[in-house]
Amino acid sequence: MAKKVPHRLYLTEDQMPKQWYNLRADMKIKPDPLLNPATFKPVNIEELYPVFCKALAAQEMDNTTRYIDIPEEIQDFYKMYRPSPLIRAYNLEKALKTPAKIYYKYEGNNTSGSHKLNSAIAQAYYAKEQGLTGLTTETGAGQWGTALAEACAFYNLDLTVYMVKVSYEQKPFRKTVMETFDAKVIPSPSNTTKVGKAILENDPNTGGSLGCAISEAIEKAVSTPGYRYVLGSVLNQVVLHQSIIGLESKIAMELLDEYPDVVIGCAGGGSNLGGLIAPFMQDKLTGKATPRIVAVEPASCPSFTRGKYAYDFCDTGRVTPLAKMYTLGASFMPSANHAGGLRYHGMSPILSRLYHDGFMEAVAVEQTKVFEAAVLFAKQETILPAPESAHAIRAAIDEAILCRETGEAKTILFGLTGTGYFDMTAYNSYLTNTMKDYVPTDEDLQKGFDQLPRVDING
Ligand SMILES: *Cc1c(COP(=O)(O)O)cnc(C)c1O
Repeated sequence: MAKKVPHRLYLTEDQMPKQWYNLRADMKIKPDPLLNPATFKPVNIEELYPVFCKALAAQEMDNTTRYIDIPEEIQDFYKMYRPSPLIRAYNLEKALKTPAKIYYKYEGNNTSGSHKLNSAIAQAYYAKEQGLTGLTTETGAGQWGTALAEACAFYNLDLTVYMVKVSYEQKPFRKTVMETFDAKVIPSPSNTTKVGKAILENDPNTGGSLGCAISEAIEKAVSTPGYRYVLGSVLNQVVLHQSIIGLESKIAMELLDEYPDVVIGCAGGGSNLGGLIAPFMQDKLTGKATPRIVAVEPASCPSFTRGKYAYDFCDTGRVTPLAKMYTLGASFMPSANHAGGLRYHGMSPILSRLYHDGFMEAVAVEQTKVFEAAVLFAKQETILPAPESAHAIRAAIDEAILCRETGEAKTILFGLTGTGYFDMTAYNSYLTNTMKDYVPTDEDLQKGFDQLPRVDING
């Protein structure tokens, strides 16, 4: 039988989306609002201005505008590395002897090696438009910091990046890439902020966490004139920008006369997953189709599968507004798992709402299983995946194996968020059999839950 479907499908520039899609517009039950941590009242937009630039604050609060124009400058920037290809994993299918059709959307084709640039360039654009001079942020594995460094260099904005200390130590070259784009990189927790000092006093040997780096970056932003803080995941605005992934995927699949039975993505703070699933979830919310949607998270940081749906801080230092989300508690310190980008205690409020209301599923996987999948995938498809992305690969492979057993020829779409060239420490530990699976006990998790803020609504 002749192959109808090409190995790689790229949209033409004309076919590329010109608007982002705001999933919230089609949600009957909206995500709960951010709360002011002092009053426990919903924040109003002015309260966000010291931290976020105005256009992004507006996007954060906008639950109703279905499609939002992508400014032309951002569309042009996207064209330097987009569209990203939709790839049919013929070789992987063959190796698995599965009747399933496996597609993946590959976001690793830019210097950050991840999807993060899709939102970084948008955030830098709006900051420049407002006349700001600099941004601060945190980075875990380094992809977000790199993406934002690229974007800030493009718009001539200063950038200070607080990088989670374990990653800083595991991936020294990440720092050099960011510095190439003129970013200032500081391992977190650090002595450069009050909150960093306090965390260090409490635990001088801590490897840090995203939540802790966020606190430091916010403190730096609000205490420096002309600076604002930006975040690479979790927030509604980031999920909005990442909808480009799903919109392109949907157009490409339509060109192939395909529609996914199941859509799979890894979930750290939920931005790539929220972006990938956006138009498919729209179909589900509006009753047009019923694709299964699966979030994959590390067993060491199981926000969806073992977390609580509650109001919590987005950072360890407890300075952010409160978000209603699946959370392990802002004080939760995940073990030294290699998927740095998935070591976050919380989850996108949009995805949390959808998960809570039964529109999606979640699984947690252990890292040795994840790397087994990563290596199998690399050999078949010649892309060395990021450990984060390999979580989605693991679940896609498991789904395809299930199809082999049941004989069902399902169409699987997963998000391959990035490349793993900076993760050789992790690959080495897998290849030398020294990788361990850390799974927190219920007691470990309870400590995080015990410190959830006492908002009435949390009971
Ligand atoms: C940051 C990152 C993730 C996880 O972040 P989300 O916001 O959950 O998408 C996944 N994969 C890669 C390659 C990343 O850099």
